[in-house]
Amino acid sequence: MKIAEIFGSEVFNEAVMKEKLPKETYKALKKTIHDGKSLDITIANTVANAMKDWAIEKGATHYTHWFQPMTNITAEKHDSFIVPTEDGHVIMEFSGKELIKGESDASSFPSGGLRDTCEARGYTAWDPTSCAFVKDGTLCIPTAFCSYNGEALDKKTPLLRSMEALSKQAVRILRLFGNENVKRVTTTAGPEQEYFLVDKKYYDERKDLLYCGRTLFGAPAPKGQEMEDHYFGALKPRVCAYMKELDEELWKMGVHAKTKHNEAAPAQHELAPIFNTTNVAVDHNQLTMEIMKKVALRHGLVCLLHEKPFAGVNGSGKHNNWSMSTDTGVNLLDPGKTPAENAQFLLFLAAVIKAVDKYQGMMRVSVASAANDHRLGAAEAPPAIVSIFLGDELQAILESIINGTAYHGVDAGKMKLGVHVLPDFPKDNTDRNRTSPFAFTGNKFEFRMLGSTASVADPNVVLNTIVADALESYADRLEGVEDLTDAVHELVRKTMRDHMRVVFNGNGYSDEWKAEAERRGLLNLTSTVDALPQMIEQKNIDVFVKHGVYSESEIRSRYEILLENYSKAVNIEALTAIDMVRKEYLPAISAYVSDLSDTVLAKKGVSEAIPCTAEITLIAKLSKYTDAMFKTADELEAAGKAAAKLSGLDQAKAFRETVLPLMEELRTYVDSAEVLTADEYWPVSTYGELLFKV
Ligand code: ADP
Ligand code: MG
Repeated sequence: MKIAEIFGSEVFNEAVMKEKLPKETYKALKKTIHDGKSLDITIANTVANAMKDWAIEKGATHYTHWFQPMTNITAEKHDSFIVPTEDGHVIMEFSGKELIKGESDASSFPSGGLRDTCEARGYTAWDPTSCAFVKDGTLCIPTAFCSYNGEALDKKTPLLRSMEALSKQAVRILRLFGNENVKRVTTTAGPEQEYFLVDKKYYDERKDLLYCGRTLFGAPAPKGQEMEDHYFGALKPRVCAYMKELDEELWKMGVHAKTKHNEAAPAQHELAPIFNTTNVAVDHNQLTMEIMKKVALRHGLVCLLHEKPFAGVNGSGKHNNWSMSTDTGVNLLDPGKTPAENAQFLLFLAAVIKAVDKYQGMMRVSVASAANDHRLGAAEAPPAIVSIFLGDELQAILESIINGTAYHGVDAGKMKLGVHVLPDFPKDNTDRNRTSPFAFTGNKFEFRMLGSTASVADPNVVLNTIVADALESYADRLEGVEDLTDAVHELVRKTMRDHMRVVFNGNGYSDEWKAEAERRGLLNLTSTVDALPQMIEQKNIDVFVKHGVYSESEIRSRYEILLENYSKAVNIEALTAIDMVRKEYLPAISAYVSDLSDTVLAKKGVSEAIPCTAEITLIAKLSKYTDAMFKTADELEAAGKAAAKLSGLDQAKAFRETVLPLMEELRTYVDSAEVLTADEYWPVSTYGELLFKV
């Protein structure tokens, strides 16, 4: 197979457009894509027709507006191209109107009260900056999803708005540095995706995996990840075959799947694409997650994307590599080689540092979910405290700027921005410690708090918006100054002085850091329930409203949705735990106890002198655990019912404070019983089978 030939074969990309569209149409469409100009309906008609013909050649019979509601997954409603003719036949049609705008009954998607059911209709609008593609016989058109009043009901709309906001401010800064060519600045993202693969046979035995995506019970296997023999280890043939097919499927869809390897935990793997414009990267990550699951089934495997499928071994995250790039191809977080480039770089860097410090609460919110709570701060993922890693070299440079002191790599006197050339500071290898939530890695930042299931849209919306805000404050300050070099120098110096507290190069997993972060006044929001109220702090609402990314009602609705999602997720877990205990674990352990009791009776029947200590001890211990399980399951049920009567933040708090601890307690009884129960009685697959039998 020739990779170059299959790459993008299912995508209506620029090459296809160029081939299939009349020259004028192609030019107009390109203008729309690159400059964000709106599209004329006659042009849309021509594009739609060409898209349809191309899709039909690819075997498509339907089209769908493919969108991303507030569920972390994508939604699609398929319409066929058929139009009946008078003579009883059909023709295949697809109009510009159908391409540009779709109507959708929005009432079954989360809206957080934005939309009454009486006006339940929403609409989807084509995003021409992300290419259409054919998937399973359907032409998929990436779209934004809004209510009839234009309020965003999805993840793409705010993302596009935030990219616009950042572009506007970044271009202002570039103009100050004399750059007149750049028309747009886009943000780029490269999300590295972690996942687990388990055998479907073992998956099917577990209701917790089916309903919750993670195991709620399970004693550790004799072996975990302590040998450190899985990370970057040779791929098992079955995993290798899976990854090969996954790559091919992704390539066909135009996703630049680049790197694949085993991760730290047994059965854990990672896939990283080459970075792309953020909204395309987000779409591609959604596609990647979907295709990962689909391809796994073809190999008798199930792909688990949950943040913490197994207790005791590492969970899965998603590293969001992020930068800003001009339409002329310059990465604005690249230090550059001349004094002017260096000064510009340090200004953009300062903007990121200021933004992340000032809006650390929103950074934390952007990765908050019930599932991710099991990872953050658990010494396998970054802590819940947002801080920035710069590396020793870059930090030393910034400190010499703050203090007006000489920097050892710079010969002539004091370190002065825009005058000296920065010394080469290589991508800092000390960062292999991986404990920093937000690390500068040479020419981009790597945001490492994201969970593996979540859409990468939210963290990018936050990053784009808060950096736009910092850049705006800089542009306001610098436009019209006489000595730009001096003013930039002062601004960077002031920013660093005010925001250096967020910079931390040490071990983020350590307890000392928690204490130190508290002294520095940084937020440590350990759970989603603690983090979410940040969303409705006035300062945080203001920055999104100011840059046109969210209206106040959009933010408030999202706050409601996230609280609800949290409560729902924990409630489903609690119900599943109760179900498994009552219908699976209790009967199974009782059966074993019953057989043990029969054995004791049989032995005693032969002779009172035959020892039965093992059986009797086991019966006693297991009976203690089953009683405790029974009682705790009842308590858990009551706690869940009590929480269900509440709403909003109170409800989420109740789930966190009363329901989760009881689930944990219940688990200890089941797991203790598991290690004492004979294999043949145990009703579900074990950690050993799930983690080691692929
Ligand atoms: P790591 O050491 O973490 O593996 P890599 O250099 O391999 O780092 O990059 C990891 C990810 O970062 C890849 O997806 C890569 O495409 C992405 N990346 C590289 N440059 C940029 C950039 N300018 N903007 C966004 N992502 C980037
Ligand atoms: Mg990385």
